Amino acid sequence: MLGNDELIVVTGAGGFIGAHLVADLLRRGHGRVRAVDIKPLDEWFQLFPGIDNQSCDLREREACYDATDGAAWVYNLAADMGGMGFIETHKAACMLSVLINTHLLLAARDRGVQRFFFASSACVYAADKQTSPDVIPLKESDAYPAMPEDGYGWEKLFSERMCRHFREDYGLTTRLARFHNVYGPHGTYDGGREKAPAAICRKVIQAKLSGRHEIEIWGDGEQTRSFMFIDDCVVGTQLIMHSHVEEPLNLGSDRLVTINQLVDIVEAIAGVRLRRRYLLDAPKGVRGRNSDNTLIRQRLGWAPSISLEEGLEKTYRWIHDQMTGIEAAERAVVNL
Ligand code: NAD
Repeated sequence: MLGNDELIVVTGAGGFIGAHLVADLLRRGHGRVRAVDIKPLDEWFQLFPGIDNQSCDLREREACYDATDGAAWVYNLAADMGGMGFIETHKAACMLSVLINTHLLLAARDRGVQRFFFASSACVYAADKQTSPDVIPLKESDAYPAMPEDGYGWEKLFSERMCRHFREDYGLTTRLARFHNVYGPHGTYDGGREKAPAAICRKVIQAKLSGRHEIEIWGDGEQTRSFMFIDDCVVGTQLIMHSHVEEPLNLGSDRLVTINQLVDIVEAIAGVRLRRRYLLDAPKGVRGRNSDNTLIRQRLGWAPSISLEEGLEKTYRWIHDQMTGIEAAERAVVNL
C-alpha cells in the first residue's frame, strides 16, 4: 500500500509508543521515517540514527507544516499525557494537545498527506458505564452519549471527531484507535507520568532492593482494568492504519484484572510477597474498564493476545535493569 521510499512521519516519537512504532517501521524496511517530538533528542526514550529526527513543538501551526512536508502517511502519537496521577491534575495541559492534532490535520490536508492516524484513548468512554469493578466491556458505541474523562478524555473525543470531519469534508483518509492501557519496556516508570504496570514494577523492585517489604497501592486495589503489551499495540496500530475501517476501533486487551491481581503477578515475577498499604485518597480513575474486542475481531480478524504474565516479565526486567544501572553500564562498555 505504501512504498518503502515514501515518507512516514511519527509524532510523539520520543515517547513510549511512538518510539516502538518507529523501531517496527524500520524493522519492516521503511527507509524514510521522520520522527518528531517536543523533547530534546537526548531525552527521547529511544533514538534511531540515520532517520530524520526532529525536536519541535507541534502545538505550533508552522511546526506541523514543517513536520508533514513531503509526508505520505502520518501517525500522530504526540500528546501531553501520563497516568492517572498526571491527567487528573493537568486537565488544561491535556486539553491543549488539541492544538497538536488540529494543526497536524490542517497541515496534512494542505500537504496532500494520504493517510493520517490518531491515537485516541479508552478515556473517551462515558463515566457512567465504568462505575463498577465488575464491568461490561466497553464497545465502541459506548462513547456516546458523551461524558468522557474530564480534560484528557474530552480532548481525545473532540479530536476523534475532528479527524472524522476532515475525512468527510476534505477527503483526508483518517484512521483511529482507542488505546487501552499500554505497557512495556522503554516507557515512563517514575517521575509522575507513569501508569499502573510500570509504577507497580518500580515499587516491587524498590521494595526488593531495599528489603522493606511493603507496597503502596492507589485506592483499594479492587479497581479493574485491562493492559495491552506494547508489541500488540504496535501491530494493531499498523493494522488499523492499513485497513479500510473508518470508525474508531478499540485497541486493547480484553483480560480484566484488578490492580491487586496485577501486583500478584509482579510479585510472582520478583519472587517476593509484600505488605500492601492502600492509599484511599490517591487518584484512581474509573472503577472498572475493559475493552470489548468484538468489532476489531470482526473487521481485522485480529485482537491483542500477548499475555499479561509474558508482557510484565519483559517490562519488569527492563525497569529492573534501568534501576540497577545494568543498561547504562552495558552501554558504557559498548562505547569504550
Ligand atoms: P508518551 O508520553 O510516552 O509519548 C507522547 C509523546 O508526545 C512524548 O514523548 C511527548 O514529549 C510528546 N509530545 C507532547 N507534547 C508535544 C508537542 N507539543 N509537540 C511534539 N511532541 C509532543 O505517551 P505514550 O504512552 O507513548 O502515548 C502515545 C499516544 O497514545 C498519546 O497520544 C496518548 O494519549 C495515547 N494513548 C496512550 C495510552 C497508554 O496507555 N500509553 C493509552 C491511551 C492513549
